[in-house]
Amino acid sequence: MNQPSSHPLALSQILGACPHDCPDTCSLLTTVQDGVAVKVQGNPAHPHTAGSLCTKVSRYPERTYHPERLLHPLKRVGPKGSGQFKPVSWDAALSDIAARLSSIAARDPQAILPYSYAGTMGLVQGESIAARFFNKLGTSQLERTICAAAGGEGLVQTLGGKVGMRVEFFAESKLILIWGSNSVSSNLHFWRYAAQAKRDGAKLICIDPRKSETAEKCHEHIALLPGTDGALALGLMHELIQHDWLDHDYLDSYTVGWDALQARALQWPPERAAAVCGIAPEQIRALAHDYGACAHNGQPAAIRMNYGLQRVHGGGNAVRLIACLPALIGAWRHRAGGVLLSNSGAFPVQRAALQRPDLLAGRTPRSINMVTIGDDLLRAGGPEFGPAIEALVVYNSNPVAVAPESAKVAQGFARDDLFTVVLEHFQTDTADYADYLLPATTQLEHWDVHSAYGHTDALLNRPAITPLGEAKPNTWIFRELAARMGLTDPCFAGSDEALCRQAYGDAVDFDALLQHGFVTLPMLDAPFALGNFPTPSGKCEFFSERLAAQGLDGLPDHVPNHEVAHSASAYPLAMISPPARNFLNSSFVNVKSLQDSEGEPLLEMHPDDAAARGLTSGDVVRVFNSRGDYRCRVELSDRARPGVVNGLGVWWRKLGLNGTNVNQLTSQNLTDLGHGPTFYDCLVEVALVVD
Ligand code: SF4
Repeated sequence: MNQPSSHPLALSQILGACPHDCPDTCSLLTTVQDGVAVKVQGNPAHPHTAGSLCTKVSRYPERTYHPERLLHPLKRVGPKGSGQFKPVSWDAALSDIAARLSSIAARDPQAILPYSYAGTMGLVQGESIAARFFNKLGTSQLERTICAAAGGEGLVQTLGGKVGMRVEFFAESKLILIWGSNSVSSNLHFWRYAAQAKRDGAKLICIDPRKSETAEKCHEHIALLPGTDGALALGLMHELIQHDWLDHDYLDSYTVGWDALQARALQWPPERAAAVCGIAPEQIRALAHDYGACAHNGQPAAIRMNYGLQRVHGGGNAVRLIACLPALIGAWRHRAGGVLLSNSGAFPVQRAALQRPDLLAGRTPRSINMVTIGDDLLRAGGPEFGPAIEALVVYNSNPVAVAPESAKVAQGFARDDLFTVVLEHFQTDTADYADYLLPATTQLEHWDVHSAYGHTDALLNRPAITPLGEAKPNTWIFRELAARMGLTDPCFAGSDEALCRQAYGDAVDFDALLQHGFVTLPMLDAPFALGNFPTPSGKCEFFSERLAAQGLDGLPDHVPNHEVAHSASAYPLAMISPPARNFLNSSFVNVKSLQDSEGEPLLEMHPDDAAARGLTSGDVVRVFNSRGDYRCRVELSDRARPGVVNGLGVWWRKLGLNGTNVNQLTSQNLTDLGHGPTFYDCLVEVALVVD
């Protein structure tokens, strides 16, 4: 099954892994006929994938053989941002890039900035040779915070790592809180377990400002205001304490800081929390009753968080508060109880071996936060900032579309004195600004190895087809650049298959990965039933000495949004920007069948808010705030609660009605923990476009 056949007309099936930024990390089975990938399907032998993929990745052949796929290196011929290029040979492109980067590095390598994220989640085509290349040069480091930093830090400070329940055991839970997740759309294979639990009698409650497809399928929906999840968790704790729905033995044995957290939670009666959340106090009382009674009856209660809720000012604290809840009721005693946001910390990835931070050789280059790339590209050099950014190398990311406050991002990318190299599959918004646009291979064309954050299986991706055109793996491109820049360290030699072996070293059986495509990590069923949290204390840390030592509040608290609407607000509507169902961040936006399903950029608005503005469904509207102006069609829908609009993302700017997307409106403000983005902490106003 695993090997591509050399027979030209043979049919073969190749095991792979979905590379996209999705908790499910599916095992793929690609059917190849006559050297062409004719079908990509879910691997039926992988328990979590269970033979099915989401609509997006089922269309992977359409994406791979897309007529606009980049197949040759390109050099800019028009003005920056015009997207005008001419073909150029690999040798000419790489030699010129190497010369330009060498010249900048000779003055100050920190003037070079890599910019990458989760365009592939692969450990090899992500940060392996690329990281070695930039470490060896001593370029600026990138703080890769744009998705999960606040929540990740919240978990680390509370549970000790990005760890939690095994996802398969949600099928046995009796109460599931789906908190900040549209699982039906964005975590489909978790939803399969939740649906099994529902069929077996479990109650499902969705907590989300948007009445998503998931909310519709749950028994209850709590439509709180964006950025108030921490207040809801405190109100819930208040009721658990008041009714003594607590596991005192668990609290005494396996937690730190209970007295202090209890005192704080008692300041949050349901009326106070409800006022902040924009919901009825009865909803908090009922939620506490369900959560407390479930545990009191000896039944497992589980929480599935996702990252949407932490994209606000107080996102880190909100995740801390929610992550505390299972310890209050002793939910961790059951394998089907506890909380899951991410299990990525369970994977024994040999990052130092892959990325080689030792190549910095004692240098400590500055770090630039990828969230503030808009401001930072426009900053002059100086003693505090260091050198102005002179060169950007972008791979696995589309910052012009996905970074906040994108008018500034585009302005920065348009700088004539900025040298920009982009590795891509398509001519994205970011690619339009490249000086050199280099064709990268897709997941069907290269080796990689994967961890996951929504389950606990390591996966291998084998190449199913030979690269199309002149497309090359990221690893090849950085190896070639290293050679042309005189970087002769042996770490740039070797094969991608060897890197795949190195990613887990001896911790995962590579022969089993080759044979099956996946390996399940050995883990206890109920890892925290008896404490054993990977915190400094070994306990669930309600109070974090580490945060206190940084001068921060050691206890979690509700942290209000940066942007809170009030009666005199010029921008009175809170906007969140969840993913459109057929897109995954800005990937798949140009796949015609998926774009056709989505139609046009859309803003969901509650009928009451629309009536107050004289809007009807289908109107073209201007969504605006002090940062910019975005046009799209409005849809009147009870998916939006009053006071909140849902700007579905992330469309490419150039496919938008006025050449912008929803990130024209989002801010570069950061979260309380982890220096993350605050995409869902954004006030706007909406008006009819009269022309
Ligand atoms: S995007 Fe998610 S659900 Fe879709 S195939 Fe990839 S891992 Fe599976």
